[in-house]
Amino acid sequence: MPDSRATKPTPDLAEEIVDSFSAGALAGVLLPMPFGVPFTYRVPEGLTVTVGDIVAVPFGSREVAGVVWGAPVDDIDAAKIKEVASRYDVPPLTPAMRGFVNWVAAYNVAQVGSVLKMVLSMPDALLPPKPITAYALTPSPPDFRETPARRRVLEVLAGGPPRPAAEIAREAGVGPSVVKGLAEAGVLGQVTIAAPKAYDWPDPSAEGPRLSTEQAAAADDLCRSVDAATFSVDVLEGIPGAGKTEVYLEAIVAALRDHKQVLVLLPEIALSAQWLDRFRERFGCRPAEWHSDLTQAQRRTNWRAVATGEARVVVGARSALFLPFPDLGLIVIDEEHDGSYKQEDGVVYNARDMAIVRAREEQIPVVLVSATPSLETVENVNQGKYSHHNLPDRHAGAEFPEVTVIDMRAEGTDSSHWLSPRLTEAIKETLAAKEQVLLFLNRRGYAPLTLCRACGHRLQCPNCTAWLVEHRLTGQLQCHHCGYSARLPKACPNCEAEGKLTACGPGVERLAEEVAAEFPDARTVIAASDTVYGPKQAADLVRRIEEREVDLVIGTQIVAKGYHFPHLTLVGVIDADLGLSGGDLRAAERTFQLLYQVAGRAGRAQHPGRVFVQTYMPEHPVIAALAARDRDGFLAAEARDRRAARMPPFGRLVGIVLSSTDPNLVDRAANALRRVAPHDDRIQVLGPAPAPIALLRGRHRRRFLVKAARDVNVQASVRKWLAQAIPPNKVRVQVDVDPYSFL
Ligand code: ADP
Ligand code: ZN
Repeated sequence: MPDSRATKPTPDLAEEIVDSFSAGALAGVLLPMPFGVPFTYRVPEGLTVTVGDIVAVPFGSREVAGVVWGAPVDDIDAAKIKEVASRYDVPPLTPAMRGFVNWVAAYNVAQVGSVLKMVLSMPDALLPPKPITAYALTPSPPDFRETPARRRVLEVLAGGPPRPAAEIAREAGVGPSVVKGLAEAGVLGQVTIAAPKAYDWPDPSAEGPRLSTEQAAAADDLCRSVDAATFSVDVLEGIPGAGKTEVYLEAIVAALRDHKQVLVLLPEIALSAQWLDRFRERFGCRPAEWHSDLTQAQRRTNWRAVATGEARVVVGARSALFLPFPDLGLIVIDEEHDGSYKQEDGVVYNARDMAIVRAREEQIPVVLVSATPSLETVENVNQGKYSHHNLPDRHAGAEFPEVTVIDMRAEGTDSSHWLSPRLTEAIKETLAAKEQVLLFLNRRGYAPLTLCRACGHRLQCPNCTAWLVEHRLTGQLQCHHCGYSARLPKACPNCEAEGKLTACGPGVERLAEEVAAEFPDARTVIAASDTVYGPKQAADLVRRIEEREVDLVIGTQIVAKGYHFPHLTLVGVIDADLGLSGGDLRAAERTFQLLYQVAGRAGRAQHPGRVFVQTYMPEHPVIAALAARDRDGFLAAEARDRRAARMPPFGRLVGIVLSSTDPNLVDRAANALRRVAPHDDRIQVLGPAPAPIALLRGRHRRRFLVKAARDVNVQASVRKWLAQAIPPNKVRVQVDVDPYSFL
């Protein structure tokens, strides 16, 4: 995580001195492409541009949008310099935003143009929305043939403003041709109107629930941070249901009162229907959303609404951090510990960490929210860099549920069953009491492995170092890394024996089979990313559970987050050990967080919850801490281990992956890089070694891991190093600062 007190890595670009360029002057324009410096353009007659302005410039045979970044940085032949084509009518990028772009590039060892590409992600939004054709009654219409459909159209328009044809037709229940026909007959006149406002301003005077004393104290502190309008980090901690969301909604109110924009990041925005409903109930309008499930038209509208300041509150996925807010006053990061804040493709960055950087550049507060803050965050609290607010209890006084560990070694379940007798008994009781059950198994599909019992062959993805996962609902074998899919063969592809392919281990579909056999009357639903893949499915699932159309939910990690189901009183963790193997730096931490969150789904308010955790390693520190509900003890032990090993957050790591479709080429490039590795006793370079997923989407992968002390500017060393042995084009180099994935 970037250290807010450490010196900034020096941005690549010279400090700006000039900030305005009139006709004839040369300006550096940064383009949204993988370049590290701006390109030089001449300002044409009749135009003056200022640093931050978004302009159209010729590039090759196209015209692209770029940003005036400062004075030219290169000496190029004056005859070759092209002219800026035009300036877009949108607010310029603020100094804070440009500082942020430079910083993200420097910190993540990325090209500054690639970072700008994340900002200018919606070039269409730079143009004003097209005016809309609308229809209204003409004052003295000629005679015309009346029909019932035509009469309905006239009724809809009577006495009202001009409206678009589609809207009129929808409301009148007629086809659009009826409206057109009336226009041709001269009964309706055509006018153009401005596109309607995309977003209303949320009403900050709307009152929330009465806060408890602790909630109110935390809310007051957050509001003070907002009003102070300077950089600060507040951590808001509390078990699921403690009322963290209610508390940070108060901070949003404070920002709205100060006429500031607000950004809320959620890890699974597509699944956050409940959050959106709550916002609407509180503020009387919807926030602007920003995530991958939006249509192009919505993205266009929302980008522009943010840039012009029309959208006051944006709730989004990590990419929302790169929206050009002119007036940002608060950033909230819900579930700050969540691994999905890490962007793994393109520019690799951690949105939680970069949000802190953005807040610092903007000089505004940021609030980190979690039931299980990450070790990085806890460490920053311990060092006094972040303020900490703890909500001790659920607002209605209910406790974190009781956790019972089931030692599977002692249960004697056979190898084709996954429900222990004790869990089965608890399910029975819960269903009999007409309450709901959640069975948590973090594995999609039917079985994670298919094995030939004749020759031992395992069905593997042809493009990846990964097993194929059987999905019985779709009748396919799937690779969860590259999306490869195939039908389950009749015979083993290796020994050709028939009828010997066997499913090994459970996925949610297979667990559902066992549940159906044990509890044939229970209404069961599977909640995994392939059944609940978008906002509609998620909202529908939530509704069905809330309205008790479902008795038993079998879910992967998508059910772990943020949901509140008042009638869900039993959580069964089918295989608590799943995430613990693999030797990844954060395996224990991540598993603890996930299980803690899942456990938090059990019981609310009046209904106490129970949690059963099935494990073969009851003595593992993660399981023991969970059973003892001892989060602090767990984190302290984890911190001790990492400090001893000089691992993050006590040391720095940078992962570097080279990949190519040609294994020899990638080996040569990796070895060439090894030969020029930095000689510095504070920097240790491990590798190259084949990555654990040595083949991914058909590319062979070799990994370096760079380990350094906290106070080393490891990014600068890595950048210098990589520049010394630039691999051939066919080898891709991906740098991952503060890696989360070690695969
Ligand atoms: P968290 O974000 O910590 O999981 P929430 O803010 O979502 O908790 O609160 C859980 C539930 O309790 C929500 O339905 C919320 O509206 C309700 N709640 C929280 N605090 C209060 C309060 N002071 N008065 C009434 N309801 C509250
Ligand atoms: Zn694959």
